[in-house]
Amino acid sequence: MSDAEQDRSHGDIRDSVRKLCLEFPGEYWRKADRENAYPTEFVQALTEAGYLAALIPEEYGGSGLPLAAAAAILEEIQRAGCNGAACHAQMYIMGALLRHGSDAQKAKYLPSIASGELRLQAFGVTEPTSGSDTGSLKTFAVRDGDHYVVNGQKVWTSRAMHSDLLLLLARTTPKDQVAKRTDGLSVFIVDMRAALGDGLTIRPIRTMMNHSTTEIFFDNLRVPAENLVGEEGRGFRYILSGMNAERVLVAAECIGDAKWFIEKATAYAKGRVVFGRPIGQNQGIQFPIAKAYAQMRAAELMVAEAARRFTAGLDCGTEANMAKMLAAEASWAAGEACIQTHGGFGFAEEYDVERKFREARLYQVAPISTNLILSYLAEHVLGLPRSY
Ligand SMILES: Cc1cc2nc3c(=O)[nH]c(=O)nc-3n(C[C@H](O)[C@H](O)[C@H](O)COP(=O)(O)OP(=O)(O)OC[C@H]3O[C@@H](n4cnc5c(N)ncnc54)[C@H](O)[C@@H]3O)c2cc1C
Repeated sequence: MSDAEQDRSHGDIRDSVRKLCLEFPGEYWRKADRENAYPTEFVQALTEAGYLAALIPEEYGGSGLPLAAAAAILEEIQRAGCNGAACHAQMYIMGALLRHGSDAQKAKYLPSIASGELRLQAFGVTEPTSGSDTGSLKTFAVRDGDHYVVNGQKVWTSRAMHSDLLLLLARTTPKDQVAKRTDGLSVFIVDMRAALGDGLTIRPIRTMMNHSTTEIFFDNLRVPAENLVGEEGRGFRYILSGMNAERVLVAAECIGDAKWFIEKATAYAKGRVVFGRPIGQNQGIQFPIAKAYAQMRAAELMVAEAARRFTAGLDCGTEANMAKMLAAEASWAAGEACIQTHGGFGFAEEYDVERKFREARLYQVAPISTNLILSYLAEHVLGLPRSY
């Protein structure tokens, strides 16, 4: 698909997202970055325009759009120099609830999430001691009458301070009593408004970019048993399909970042004159930008393929992982080319390049690091022996 064709798919959505993003120029993001502040007005504008409810079915008040449309929204946000990380999770976290929640849970939560009345922005999987090894997570939920009692700790729970609900993955059967280490995990909806100060503590973590991430602590937190999503012990399977959507959407954001870097680098290379000619006339400047463009276009095809398979209900784990890895590498290559093209000015805050450079680096580590994707491809796709 050519760039023009890709733009035409969901073209109306892309146009209106671009228009909305014009209200949030570089200065808005620089200020938020400087103050480590949550971009509340931006998230509010996206919510009011209905973009964060793109994947919620119409019967629950959302737009019922396919994953490719949600990907187009996030790509355009990043391409405009904004940062969708402030709210992107709202799009995919609700997937576990939509696919595996009871009718009562869906009726209770989805319409309010779609309208923006309730925010489901936080996803608690990673823990300090287990990291990428999700099956070894230690946060434990014990059934006690009509409640579960939760104890443990999560780390890198992004947006927890700006969300009403948290989708929590906790162990409900000890690891040594299950056949596979990913068995015995369960998913819960935690209402953080009620829980704060009553079993739940949230502490912000400062990071190299403005990401509103936190660590959270559970100390005998009581969660109503009716907030268990699906069956007890099958939670890992429930979050896997949501993780595929997450990988495709994050990959789309990386494509948007890559386009921003490439457009910014190209414009600067045409205008900046050194030694009496535009720096873009030098192949040493041209080639890294051209190479990043080729990488971005290849990754863009994989993002489209992964989204197509997801929407068709086909297995898309391989494509979603490859899309995320290739797109994160393409955005990083584009970021490298962009900062190098700008010379010293690449480091000046007012150009936004250094901010985007810091923001883009995350996606080779989160939501899954490149090594874990390579190991998935090597072992699950190519059949090489398991390394762990
Ligand atoms: C800003 C930010 C936001 C985040 N938001 C969230 C969130 O909202 N919710 C959430 O649950 N998590 C979140 N995360 C966590 C993120 O998903 C993890 O950081 C990521 O999965 C890697 O886990 P880790 O940091 O524990 O690294 P580790 O698992 O400790 O790994 C460290 C390094 O070792 C490598 N490694 C580990 N094992 C192997 C192996 N077997 N073979 C080869 N290499 C290996 C990894 O690839 C990585 O490079 C966030 C992280 C960050 C930094």
